[in-house]
Amino acid sequence: MSANVSTLLYLVASVCFIQALKGLSHPKTARLGNVFGMAGMAIAILTTGILILQSGSSAIGFGFPLVIVGLLAGGAVGALLAARVEMTKMPELVAAMHSLIGLAAVCIAFAIVSDPAAFGILTVDREIPYGNRVELALGSLVGAVTFSGSVIAFGKLSGRYKFRLFQGAPIQYKGQHWLNLLLLLAILACGATFVWTQHWSTFLVLSLAAFVLGVLIIIPIGGADMPVVVSMLNSYSGWAAAGIGFSLNNPMLIVAGSLVGSSGAILSYIMCRAMNRSFFNVLLGGLGGASAVTAGSSQGANRSVKQGSADDAAFMLQNAESVIIVPGYGLAVARAQHALKELTEKLAGKGVAVKYAIHPVAGRMPGHMNVLLAEAEVPYEQVHEMEDINPDFGQTDVVLVLGANDVVNPAAKTDPGSPIAGMPILDAYKSRSIIVNKRSMAAGYAGLDNELFYLDKTMMIFGDAKKVVEELVKAVD
Ligand code: NDP
Repeated sequence: MSANVSTLLYLVASVCFIQALKGLSHPKTARLGNVFGMAGMAIAILTTGILILQSGSSAIGFGFPLVIVGLLAGGAVGALLAARVEMTKMPELVAAMHSLIGLAAVCIAFAIVSDPAAFGILTVDREIPYGNRVELALGSLVGAVTFSGSVIAFGKLSGRYKFRLFQGAPIQYKGQHWLNLLLLLAILACGATFVWTQHWSTFLVLSLAAFVLGVLIIIPIGGADMPVVVSMLNSYSGWAAAGIGFSLNNPMLIVAGSLVGSSGAILSYIMCRAMNRSFFNVLLGGLGGASAVTAGSSQGANRSVKQGSADDAAFMLQNAESVIIVPGYGLAVARAQHALKELTEKLAGKGVAVKYAIHPVAGRMPGHMNVLLAEAEVPYEQVHEMEDINPDFGQTDVVLVLGANDVVNPAAKTDPGSPIAGMPILDAYKSRSIIVNKRSMAAGYAGLDNELFYLDKTMMIFGDAKKVVEELVKAVD
């Protein structure tokens, strides 16, 4: 394959990736976007494979069969994981994937520094050119931060591990930001020394310190701020790949890495705005999190709430003129979206105006609720984003909150000391009456009690969302 042909194929793959991003921006075109993404990746892998084959296995220090084995093993593990993962576990899978990209960037940087001749980047004086040294230092720094930060994010998102670093509650201590800044300065000093001297030891210290920095910038971030962290690490992983693309002189890696890096940065910015957080604070690590509350705490265990049955709720819903449904993580866990659509249709048939209100961080990944409702083929016209629907709550008869908690917690507005203070919420508390379905009085992801549940106009229906919605459907019948 000539250089022109490979460049053309890389260009085609890049266009596919851009189309993929464009397609993924709307549920209707998301499938096509995925097809473009897969096609782009297949073209990129095949082209790179042919180039490796042409260059002769010895040129890069390992045999082509090893590349095939790696591709098959990696592809098989990836396909298996993707097929088996539950929708609610997607964020932790994504965090795990980001960590692998970061680790790959560090490994490649180490391979190049240890044997630059194998990658054909030595000067006549048998030295790594200065430009490449800068790329390697940056690639390893960003890769190491991405790896260790993503491992911590994975632990926090999965909530399965008892290890303190993996708990949802933020870990904060005095002088935290100064320590992080000092470490960053030390890393930059090591980077400068490496660029100047090409000493192995400085490269090693730089990478080890970057691993530590990745841990330190993610541990102070807790509960409700994790969505921003995931998109930020997504962006970092892209930049790590782009940095290594420069070192390997691979335009495909540079383009794909930059696309991931910049789209991740834009997503982080959008998430920061949605969460009312400072983009700069996110980049430095440690967002809000005033007081740490352990996830799952049930501070409200001894307070009383008004409790009702599905029949009571069905009566209220049928007699309302307007109903807003607020779906949350619990709806996804229960997989109640199909039953919910049936309920909505029955209510609409009785002349009730029903809308869905979507909070940008409801669930466990950006767009989680949109995907869930699209799966049940809920018409897009019924689905409203937070800014559009918030003014409607005050004139709404009944709000039905299904498995949502943090995204309707008024503490974000009323308690400046709350870890979610400042985060915009769906104004469910403003409506005339509220029905909340969840299984118990347990806290949401941020680990906070929710005043909404104790309001006089709120009625709680305890139980699994799917079972409760099915009961509602029957009762409405
Ligand atoms: P929350 O996690 O705040 O609350 C979900 C509620 O659902 C829980 O209180 C739980 O209560 C209830 N629940 C769980 N299972 C069921 C079930 N089977 N049936 C009925 N109820 C159930 O969810 P929200 O969607 O309100 O908020 C999302 C949170 O996750 C935010 O804090 C957000 O920052 C965070 N997050 C979001 C990410 C994203 O990208 N969207 C990524 C990472 C974190 P109970 O146990 O009593 O049933």
